[in-house]
Amino acid sequence: MEKDAAEPDSSRQRNGAVVGGTLYGEFTDTLNDRVRYSVSLTESALTIQKITASPGRTKVVFNLTDCVGCRAHRADDGADVGAYVTAYFYQFKRRWMSTGTARQKVEQCFRVALVQDPLVNLQEAERWASAIRDFSIRQIPRRDGVLYGEVRRPCRVMVLVNPHSGRGQALQLFTTHVQGMLTEAAVPYTLVITEHQNHARELVRKADLSKWDALVIMSGDGLLFEVINGLMEREDWEQALQTPLGILPGGSGNALAASVHHYTQCPPAWNEELLLSCGFLLCKGLVVCLDLVSVHLASRQRLFSFLSLAWGFVADVDIESEKYRHVGAIRFLMGTLVRLASLRVYQGRLAYLPVKEALRLGRGAAKPHPPPSTPQCHSLCSSSSGQPLPQTSPNQNSRHGQNGDPNSNHNTIQNSTNNTITAKRTAEAPAESLTRGPPDSLLPGLDQPVPESWTLVQEEDFVLVLAIYQSHLAEDLWTAPGAGPDDGLIHLFYVTAGISRPALLRLFLAMEKGAHLACGCPHLVYQKVRALRLEPLSPQGVITVDGETVEYGPVQAQIHPRLARLICG
Ligand code: ADP
Ligand code: MG
Repeated sequence: MEKDAAEPDSSRQRNGAVVGGTLYGEFTDTLNDRVRYSVSLTESALTIQKITASPGRTKVVFNLTDCVGCRAHRADDGADVGAYVTAYFYQFKRRWMSTGTARQKVEQCFRVALVQDPLVNLQEAERWASAIRDFSIRQIPRRDGVLYGEVRRPCRVMVLVNPHSGRGQALQLFTTHVQGMLTEAAVPYTLVITEHQNHARELVRKADLSKWDALVIMSGDGLLFEVINGLMEREDWEQALQTPLGILPGGSGNALAASVHHYTQCPPAWNEELLLSCGFLLCKGLVVCLDLVSVHLASRQRLFSFLSLAWGFVADVDIESEKYRHVGAIRFLMGTLVRLASLRVYQGRLAYLPVKEALRLGRGAAKPHPPPSTPQCHSLCSSSSGQPLPQTSPNQNSRHGQNGDPNSNHNTIQNSTNNTITAKRTAEAPAESLTRGPPDSLLPGLDQPVPESWTLVQEEDFVLVLAIYQSHLAEDLWTAPGAGPDDGLIHLFYVTAGISRPALLRLFLAMEKGAHLACGCPHLVYQKVRALRLEPLSPQGVITVDGETVEYGPVQAQIHPRLARLICG
């Protein structure tokens, strides 16, 4: 019987034949060996066609760009002489009970039973599985004009999971959604569950990186921030940054994961669908360059950031919404509504180096910022013009102070519940840390005035200042529509005081579709810059870098294009 099933048919290709680069074979169904299929494999597709007595043939074409892996195996039943080929696809399919499409797993299996010898059948199955794997690895969805690298194969991955991120489900999500996919793609991984804040940072600072082909973060953006800064603390930071970094959304703030998905130009995805998409990209292993931003704080600490620098509304919402962490990503919406209800104005000075100027000046005119180990004396309260800044600045502009008291916004800041949260989330470096990295040729010392080529923003009353270098600030906030992972740009947004609550809400609602810049809001300003400096005048407040609170005070930053590498489609 087995032989019959494989008997060559003169009207079709010979079994196992390779004709014009196409592998051809006839196999049987996994459940019913009387149902036969003709199977053909080209570089781009696996085509399976049912062979029936009737002229009508059912044909299914699987695009190999959707395939993460394939394996050959024997049946559980030892008596079965046949071998099996199972290929794993993640295809775009209509969502169940919802509109649009999302990647969904499709397993395709056929049975190889050419002869009575199980070993020969298994060898043939392995030949097919290996051909499907080889072609699939080469078939990766790529965008025109993007320069890609690939992770080394076989790829050994360290997966770092923060068990407390998001709703505390990162580990469970990894087990249910990612683990199987990595097995299907034959990607060996080592799971590291972080035990405390800065655990990942310390670990990558000391790790033997020659053992790893990729470092993957299953958490929110905070854990990747730790990892990047841990890598920057290594003596071999330049080499260490060549290790591809992957992101799997497991937190409540999954901005990079949302951005990575967005760069693939696939339909929008959220929650588990976003996780599946990022897992898929990890299995495919395409690598692009990632810009990093060097951030200097008043205490002379230097940090590296991949996502954002925020002050005012956005930073407050990020940190205040920590208390709604149990609801997941929707915490930002809740935080936004709460903060809108008591809108604050923040006083400070903002200056930036516009891209046009940076291009005109070459790499920039500033004397490079001295390395952090050089002693340097400067006052936290010096302004860009060298004049002392006022120590307090009650907010006169806010219309939304508590009890109608114009100073009550000031009180709100002082009395805000941030302190405990801040203490928990402050991005403090471990005691022995020393961030290295390239010199910041665009930045003078924080105590020096900014160069003349910089633009000084006239306004001093802000609702928010946000520098972002990825497309998304959260899963549903498409903040910088034109941003790419390696565009060499800081996308600087600020909203000046005087904006009404409904107008600000409209901006955030429009941001879901990346349409906020088309709202015609006179208070919203957008600039593409290479460097910026922010000097808050309000005595207290929150500044975040990649969603992590950093010390409050003067801060400046510059972009370093293509410093790191990111697994991305
Ligand atoms: P989320 O998006 O849910 O906030 P993050 O990845 O941003 O998730 O992590 C939140 C914070 O938790 C970060 O400051 C990170 O450094 C810290 N962290 C990482 N691992 C642990 C751990 N095991 N216990 C406590 N905090 C941790
Ligand atoms: Mg976070």
